Amino acid sequence: MTTTRFAPSPTGYIHVGNLRTALMNYLIARKAGGTFILRIDDTDPERSKEEYVDAIKQDMEWLGLHWDRIERQSDRLDRYAEAADKLREMGRFYEAFETPTELDLKRKKQLNMGKPPVYDRAALNLSDAEKEALRAERGNGVWRFKLDHERIEWNDGILGDISIDAASVSDPVLIRGDGQVLYTIASVVDDTEMGVTDVVRGSDHVTNTATQIQIIEALGGTCPRFAHHSLLTGPQGEALSKRLGTLALRDLREQGVQPMALLSLMARLGSSDPVELRSDMAELIEGFDVNRFGAAPTKFDVQDLFPLTAKHLQSLPLADVADAVAEAGVPAELAEPFWAMARENITTLGDLKGWWELCRDGAEPLIADEDRDFIAEAVALLPEGPFDGETWGTWTKAVKEATGRKGKSLFMPLRKALTGMERGPEMATLLPLLQVIRARG
Ligand code: GLU
Repeated sequence: MTTTRFAPSPTGYIHVGNLRTALMNYLIARKAGGTFILRIDDTDPERSKEEYVDAIKQDMEWLGLHWDRIERQSDRLDRYAEAADKLREMGRFYEAFETPTELDLKRKKQLNMGKPPVYDRAALNLSDAEKEALRAERGNGVWRFKLDHERIEWNDGILGDISIDAASVSDPVLIRGDGQVLYTIASVVDDTEMGVTDVVRGSDHVTNTATQIQIIEALGGTCPRFAHHSLLTGPQGEALSKRLGTLALRDLREQGVQPMALLSLMARLGSSDPVELRSDMAELIEGFDVNRFGAAPTKFDVQDLFPLTAKHLQSLPLADVADAVAEAGVPAELAEPFWAMARENITTLGDLKGWWELCRDGAEPLIADEDRDFIAEAVALLPEGPFDGETWGTWTKAVKEATGRKGKSLFMPLRKALTGMERGPEMATLLPLLQVIRARG
């Protein structure tokens, strides 16, 4: 059965880059009728925070990315210790004692000699007595996985055929000196034991994948299918990594971005399919194919989310936005006509408040000197209330007859006097909502 997972580390809020990973894994699972696991990669006790675990869940729920199972790596440390023992017994695990400074020096020397900065495996030559002495002096060493120096190959769902020479990669550290298990092994143990069949993640993980394939094989597991999506860049192709902090999902939510807008964009951006607003998750699932994504960096412009949000809101019936309409202060009996007027004129639900204030308090009228008499005449002709959808038509017809004005010179001064703006909602739908005028009518 198809099983995928989204595996964030709870060391911060999740952002649009993480969302891309989450969404692709989610859509693969749902399309196949499989299982989607939310896995919290919290093996780092210093950087992992409960607050972020809660925030990740909230963000996922907001988007409707419901998980079938939740797992936490901190609950599974004994499983990782077992796997480590297994690797130790197999002779694939060795303790190394170099300090970060020593490693840095080695790297610099290698680079100076034009060699790739790969760990030289000096620790493999240490005798038991030497290790004992180093342990006494420096404390426990780190544990490195001994890669087989052969080519590691896989067919990547996005990148195509990949072949990496294991000799060009340092033996990965899987356990730190303080005993902390690192993601590289924890993830392998989880993916294997949880039956993960498909792993989609960012292309910054390609080298991890190479080493993880060897670890999976050493532990006797089955390799999942891997796909590595490109990383997001800003609209000009500039690196986004530093700005991702400002593109947290909660900030976008705060700015009024609608989940469907975000999902519609992220499920297609960087693929050969056009970005179009979809009406629901089922539609996104239906058309999703990870193989249609390209390897090139994907440009992301946060501004693209707003027209999609506006379009999505326009499509909604009042029932879907009733809370927001009420929160904007609109009385229940006016909610229906208010929404009919406002839906075409907002970018986010946050704009509702402004429209309601205009309806309730009126606007500072915008009246040109040459229009003063005309407006006075028009006001005198305003029919008796209550106003409805016909009122504007009846009224402007009467004003036209009385003043001889027509077209733009008839409508624009009225619009400006009533709304203080040159552009805006259909006056026929707006007029019955203008409370001040209503009172007068
Ligand atoms: N915790 C890892 C990350 O956030 C997970 C990577 C993976 O999907 O394997 O980068």
